[in-house]
Formats: sequence, structure tokens, C-alpha cells
Amino acid sequence: MKTITHAYCIDLDRIVTIDEARFEYLSLPSPRPPRFRYLCEYPACQEKQVRVAAVNDDKPIEESNVFKAPHFRRWQQEPHAAGCPWMEDEASPVQEEGESDNDFQRRLARAKLTDFIDRFDPPVPGYDDPTSSTNGDQNTVGAPPKPPHQDRPQASSRPGKHRTSVLDRLVNTYIESGKLLSWEERQRLELQVGGIGTIRLVDYFQSLKRCSLQTRDRVMYGGANLERRYGEGALFHFFDTIAVEGPDGETKPVKVRLYISPKQVVSCRHRHYIKEILENEETPYYRLYAIGSLHYDPRYRTVSLQVEDLRQLSILRAPPNSRKSTST
Ligand SMILES: [Zn+2]
Repeated sequence: MKTITHAYCIDLDRIVTIDEARFEYLSLPSPRPPRFRYLCEYPACQEKQVRVAAVNDDKPIEESNVFKAPHFRRWQQEPHAAGCPWMEDEASPVQEEGESDNDFQRRLARAKLTDFIDRFDPPVPGYDDPTSSTNGDQNTVGAPPKPPHQDRPQASSRPGKHRTSVLDRLVNTYIESGKLLSWEERQRLELQVGGIGTIRLVDYFQSLKRCSLQTRDRVMYGGANLERRYGEGALFHFFDTIAVEGPDGETKPVKVRLYISPKQVVSCRHRHYIKEILENEETPYYRLYAIGSLHYDPRYRTVSLQVEDLRQLSILRAPPNSRKSTST
């Protein structure tokens, strides 16, 4: 049967992917409700109050060797309404007339991923577009649930289904593609990026060691150590260095740091989420994905990776043995 990729979240009063739900759940202030509740998104199933279960939607995602991807699953005891698309068998894709071999292979690769993002609109600093990642109002958490499908876009229109400006969601797609696809399949995936155009997913993400001071409009990523906390803020040191030309004309490796100020955290809508991730008792290791810019400070011979807005930064906990494995 098909993998359920979208469900209606009663608490958020909108159709969500599991990643959106997890992101919103962890962004709630403590004490949080025990769990979010979900119904099948198909209107006739919603009418019947057919529940859908969620796995790992209440924990920060970890970039570990065992990728415990959050996902939805069916309740055995809850029969879905006739015609529910989530009860259909997964049809193996067939090459359509006029579809090139390349396009078909690309479609096959995409079909292996749970939530492939077609279009990514990088967050604009200082502007939190409430419709960018979602289908509705974000301020409904904790409000009494409305009856199903009232004042809400119908499932069939699904604006934003494969479109997002939530970096976390795109990062999950990228990580999943690395775990589930072959090298060739992964090279085929393409992404529309607002302000850039069409780009291969693997080119939009750039490992820090392949970046330079000129790198812009890319998701730069690498393993990092949480060096210390500054109140709600934090300073990370990356394991990778980047090459910088010194005054003598010689190129040398320079350490890279990323600092987020307490003010940035406090003013961020997802501060509870960030707090939860940073309070990591087990290991100080993280993997950071950032859309920012690199700045060299010759006084201290360090490079800072600066992000203007915390929505341009995705922080994943990493397992203790992750210090060496900084390339995906
Ligand atoms: Zn259903």
C-alpha cells in the first residue's frame, strides 16, 4: 500500500507532512500536549474520523546511522472510506508517452522518497510568511479543533504539497535521498529554488569543505561541535576548514565557526524547537545546514558562517561517532 505522506492534523487544523508536524510540535512551549492527533486527509475519511498514527513526530531528528525517519502509518482497526487514495496499491510508475528516458528516470528516483520537495523558497530574513510551508494559519495550535474541512483548502488543491520554505523539510529530503537512492538516482533529482531557478538537489547542498568565501545561495553544511552556550545562544565550531588566501598570497586552511546570539533565538518563532535540540545531554556533536555567507576575520584567523535569520539554519543532532563522517 501507499506510504501516507500527508495527514490532517487536528491540533494544527491543516494538512501536514510529518516533518512539518514534527517541526510545529517541537516549536510549542513546554508543557506540550502529549502528542498531536491526526486524521486521514481524504475528505470522506475525515468525515468518518479515520485516525492516522504518527511515529517519531515528537522527537528532534537525528542524523544517525540508523535513520529513524518520522512517518505516518495506518491504524489496523480503522477502515478508510471507499475511494481513499491512501488505501490504493503503490502502482509501479510506467513511462508515459512523450516522456524522455531522463524524465522518467528522474520520476522513478523521486517516487522512492517519502516527501520530495519540488520547490524551495529560501526564507526571507525578517519576513515570516505563514502560508509558505503550510496551508493555513499557524496560530491555531491549542485552539479548539474545528470540524473537519471548514474554511480550509480542499485536499485536492493542496497548495504547498511539494513546496516549502522550511529548510528543515528540504534537509530531510536531502538526507533521505542519500540513504535511499543510488548515486546515479540522486544526481537526477532537481529542485526549483526561488531566486535561483532549477538546480540539481546535490548542487544546491554544498559541503563546507567545498565552499569558499564567495559561496552564496547554497545550503552549506558540515559536522560541528557545540563549543559553548551564551544564554539561549550558541557557538559552534565546524570540523571542516576552508581555504583562505593570506596576505602573503599563500592559501591556508582556516577554522569555521557559527554563532547564534541569544537575541536571535529569543526572537525566533521556533525558539522552543532550537532550545530542545541544543539541550543535548548525550553528545555535543551536531550537523548544521545553513543558507548564509562566510566572512573572514584576519585578526583571529577564523571564518564565520553568518545566518541572518534562524529559519536559514537547520540544526541536527549527530551521534557521538559523527566527528569524522562529515560528508553525505
Ligand atoms: Zn483514508
